[in-house]
Amino acid sequence: MSRRATYNNVLYEQNDRDRRKQAFIRKRKRKRALVVLSFFGVVAILLLIIILLLVNFIKKKYAEHVEAITYKEYVGEYPDVWLVDNSLKTGSGAGDAFFEITNTGEKTELDLKALKYKDIVPGSKGLVIVDAGHGGYDGGAEGNGVLEKDINLEISYKLKDELILRGYTVKLTRPDDNFVGLTQRASIANALEDPVCLISLHQNSLDASEGAASGMESWTYRREGCEELGNTILEAACKKTGAKNRGTHFRTNLVVTSRTTMPAIIFECGYVTDATEAAKLADPAYQERIAEGIVDGIDNFKLDYYGGE
Ligand SMILES: [Zn+2]
Repeated sequence: MSRRATYNNVLYEQNDRDRRKQAFIRKRKRKRALVVLSFFGVVAILLLIIILLLVNFIKKKYAEHVEAITYKEYVGEYPDVWLVDNSLKTGSGAGDAFFEITNTGEKTELDLKALKYKDIVPGSKGLVIVDAGHGGYDGGAEGNGVLEKDINLEISYKLKDELILRGYTVKLTRPDDNFVGLTQRASIANALEDPVCLISLHQNSLDASEGAASGMESWTYRREGCEELGNTILEAACKKTGAKNRGTHFRTNLVVTSRTTMPAIIFECGYVTDATEAAKLADPAYQERIAEGIVDGIDNFKLDYYGGE
């Protein structure tokens, strides 16, 4: 081998070592980059999962919170019962654990009442006659855009629902917007067997010349049970609604109270001629409270007048 050839050979080996070394360094760099990249990738994915879980959790908690607050306003009377995801739950409210009571499907106040009165045997308390005053061509009193016959009918339906829920059976003397004569109403009532009482629903009015008035009144006839019924219902209904108690008054010319045989009253829920009261009387939530108050009164009357169950 010549000197020249040996030199070339050495040079070649040197270059080859360098190439391999560089290749090794490049490979190591790529490997490191890959490790770093996959580390950050995993961290990013984990972070994303955590963020998604957190967002989901907050969204769910917020939805429950809003639902609970809304429902608390809706039925402040039932502070321990909440509606979450369309089912009734108990617990102390937003943020706390909710325990499911029952699936109801519908978000209605009736669900909560059904729960409250679940131990009452349907129809066990006797029959109540509900008489919605006026009807058909007879509109009754009018004021502030409110027509008496409509309010009477609306309250009579709510009163019927409330009575049934609380264990009564109900007879409506005027089930729709048709005229029913006064004598006919008395006949319908007198033909029924052992009714607890009759409540004739009316709205009051006052001529502008007579001044201003608002509040509830009972009108009745001097016979057994009627005054007690008038007073008991007034007390309970005024307590429930905050309306003024204007007392029980006697009238001899009212067919529905004078010609019937069971305790009976005409219940004047309020004055349509008073702008503030007229607005309340037309409000379904207020009508509901009137109905609840009347049934509270009927419960009390039944206990006092007939005694026991
Ligand atoms: Zn009337």
